[in-house]
Amino acid sequence: MTCLKPENAGPAASGLNGLDFNPFEVMEPRAPQAIPAEARNGGRVKAAGARPKGLYLPNNNIQTPNMTSPEYVQLSTAAAITLGIMPGKMHRCGCTRCLNLLLTYPEGCRANCAYCGLARHREAERDYADRNFIRVDWPSVPMAQIAEIVGRDPEASPFHRMCISMITHPRSDEDTVSVLKTWTDAVDPDAIPISILSNPTTMTRADVQRLRDMGADIFTVALDAATPEIFDRTRGKGVQSPHSWQKYWEILNDARDIFGPQKFGAHIIVGMGETEHEILDLVQQLVDMGGHSHMFCFYPEKGSLMDHLPATPRDQWRRVQLARYLIDYYGVRVEQMRFDEQGRVVDFGLPQAELDGIIDAGTAFRTSGCPGKFAEDISACDRPYGDSPPSDIASYPFAPADADLRRIRHQLGMEKPGEPYEEGEELEGY
Ligand code: SF4
Repeated sequence: MTCLKPENAGPAASGLNGLDFNPFEVMEPRAPQAIPAEARNGGRVKAAGARPKGLYLPNNNIQTPNMTSPEYVQLSTAAAITLGIMPGKMHRCGCTRCLNLLLTYPEGCRANCAYCGLARHREAERDYADRNFIRVDWPSVPMAQIAEIVGRDPEASPFHRMCISMITHPRSDEDTVSVLKTWTDAVDPDAIPISILSNPTTMTRADVQRLRDMGADIFTVALDAATPEIFDRTRGKGVQSPHSWQKYWEILNDARDIFGPQKFGAHIIVGMGETEHEILDLVQQLVDMGGHSHMFCFYPEKGSLMDHLPATPRDQWRRVQLARYLIDYYGVRVEQMRFDEQGRVVDFGLPQAELDGIIDAGTAFRTSGCPGKFAEDISACDRPYGDSPPSDIASYPFAPADADLRRIRHQLGMEKPGEPYEEGEELEGY
């Protein structure tokens, strides 16, 4: 176990034993259990063979229809609300600016990543199209219907970007091409740029090139784990999952060559047992390659193999969020920062006055991802409450207000004199 004493922990410490970070020893996934034969490979859905009728909203009380990409895709709850095919409102933000699509199959994703709600082991308890993923439901919709709605007037669309998430499936490479074709037949990629969240495990360099040739703008690799050990433990051999660190880097390097500077990146989850120094070294490596990192705060997704583990303490998350922003957009290098013996950031490498200005601007604490139409450092992909509940926001899907910034400063241990944060003040009036 780590030797960090709780009294050394920061003001928002919520990790196990009062720590202000999630140590490697604690973040051990559960082992996947055996799956009953009738549930394997989407067995229940295929056996029932229920035909889909347009929009399908996840519902455990009715039989999941047999829906398959490229005809069907799933989209995030926020995207479905924004598209106008589902009623609803998101706390403090009207809609999302990214149309996140997910390939779908009765047998679902064939990987078994320990932190993911879509993982294969969940066949035992829930059909694929009914599973929660980054904390929300993902309705299923015919792809042609989505393309038709957005294609009516792409310039006036609330979406700044469209993203296809490939998942791990033997058909995902060819079906991504088909989904992309349906989209580009209806929507000019110059009007709404396209991102691909790739599945390196089944991909070749030629697949990456093909997606670029078809009009994709940005290509990202969901590395998710910050070190090879954590990768193997959470999405490789440790959980009977097919991914390898080496293959992910092979496709990431292909994306750098094919998509070019600022047009590729990696997703990384903060708080799965890496140190802050390790993850920020990786952020620096990506910047030196010409790419970006898109950060997610670890959240114990219900039904996943890590749902018994603590969410990332806000102290750790805010330090990494701020440092990543400085490296990605402010020219600060990880070598200018200083770290303690636990690998925690103790100096961000900038004079305090300059750092104060960046904190007060708030952008560093917004959801990170592929850019939209506002600014290079404001993500189109705002994923409302994908990595936290609204009561304790990790990635802000909107510009943080004054009370949010006081809370962020409290979490960083950098409150301004005379401006203390009062618990819950940012929720008043909502
Ligand atoms: S490959 Fe992606 S979708 Fe599939 S289990 Fe892993 S993280 Fe989830």
